[in-house]
Amino acid sequence: MELTNSKILIVDDQEANVRILESLLEIKGFKQVKSTTDSRQVENLVESFSPDLLLLDLMMPHMSGFEVMERLRGKETEGHFMPILVLTADSTKESKEQALRLGATDFLTKPFDFTEVLLRINNLLMISHLTGSLKGQNDLLEEKVKERTVELEQKNEELKQFVFIASHDLQEPLRMVTELLSQLQVHYGDKIDERGMKYIDFAVKSALKMKSLIVDLLEYSKADALVVGDVTKVDLNNVLDDVRILLNSVIEFNKAEIKIGIMPEIKAPVSVLRQIFQNLIGNAIRYRKTDLAPVINIRAVENEKNYVIEVEDNGIGIPLESQGKIFDLFHRIQMPPDQLGSGVGLAITKKIIERMNGTLEVKSEVGVGSVFTIQLPKA
Ligand code: ADP
Repeated sequence: MELTNSKILIVDDQEANVRILESLLEIKGFKQVKSTTDSRQVENLVESFSPDLLLLDLMMPHMSGFEVMERLRGKETEGHFMPILVLTADSTKESKEQALRLGATDFLTKPFDFTEVLLRINNLLMISHLTGSLKGQNDLLEEKVKERTVELEQKNEELKQFVFIASHDLQEPLRMVTELLSQLQVHYGDKIDERGMKYIDFAVKSALKMKSLIVDLLEYSKADALVVGDVTKVDLNNVLDDVRILLNSVIEFNKAEIKIGIMPEIKAPVSVLRQIFQNLIGNAIRYRKTDLAPVINIRAVENEKNYVIEVEDNGIGIPLESQGKIFDLFHRIQMPPDQLGSGVGLAITKKIIERMNGTLEVKSEVGVGSVFTIQLPKA
């Protein structure tokens, strides 16, 4: 960094002072020095010349150094720090304080000690350049982050496409396998012994399991698109009524009780809200204790920014070490009692809530129950 290439602007109403400073700087090799004895010119000069340092007298006719600083305040171009070295014969405590308050970086009283003037000029230019290079580094870093984000988004999109295509294309051969296995059962059942039929039965069950995995995977890959639905204000009471109807047979079979508090109206696609609560209430019933009828409490409160909705159950609970993992794709603590699902429900639920800029968290105690908390922004 060559400091002598820095741009310096001298402002002093005394021509003699300006000349002294100019020659001092010239001797030291500074090549880009401008000056004015008319303080009213400073604003324009700062704009056109964009100095790295301003040497400013305080007591000047037309416009004092204080006023100049006041006018310059807030006009700095972003990332360009221009230190102001105040040079004045007025060395009172008050004027020093006022100058510093108005943005002066350093202070020198006349008559000058030239060595000190040059040392301070050097120091201030160093600060100015370091600030500039910091800004440069920041810009570079920001640019890099932007590039990486675009790359990541592209990769993410490719990955989503891959999951979609792979799971979509897997369905057909799988359908063939299932179909052929059932043909085997129907047409060759009498020629295959009991053991053989058992193997076929296992194969059919595994194929069905695989089908459900593929369907869930497809659901997961499409979850983002779900959120881009018709966004109107939806009464959560109506959504929960719909979910009760959808889960009616499970609710009745398990003698589940669902208690619903006062619910807000939420701006979101209705199908998405339905899916969220269907998953959470469905799980609250599935992971019930065998000896206790499920009781599910659904409550809502709101704070300044969010609606906070809790789905609380009195089920088997989730061990602390698994609570962070249950939202991962395909993660399950153990095979569910009904042997259904594939550990995708909560991953989808969390993903769509996050797409709505919300959060989904769980607090749970084994043997006591779980509380799933959804936060959705009001805006
Ligand atoms: P699935 O139910 O198909 O396994 P989910 O993604 O819905 O998949 O849930 C993941 C795992 O989290 C479940 O396998 C279960 O172990 C646990 N879990 C989810 N909800 C509850 C709940 N309300 N109570 C206890 N465990 C739960």
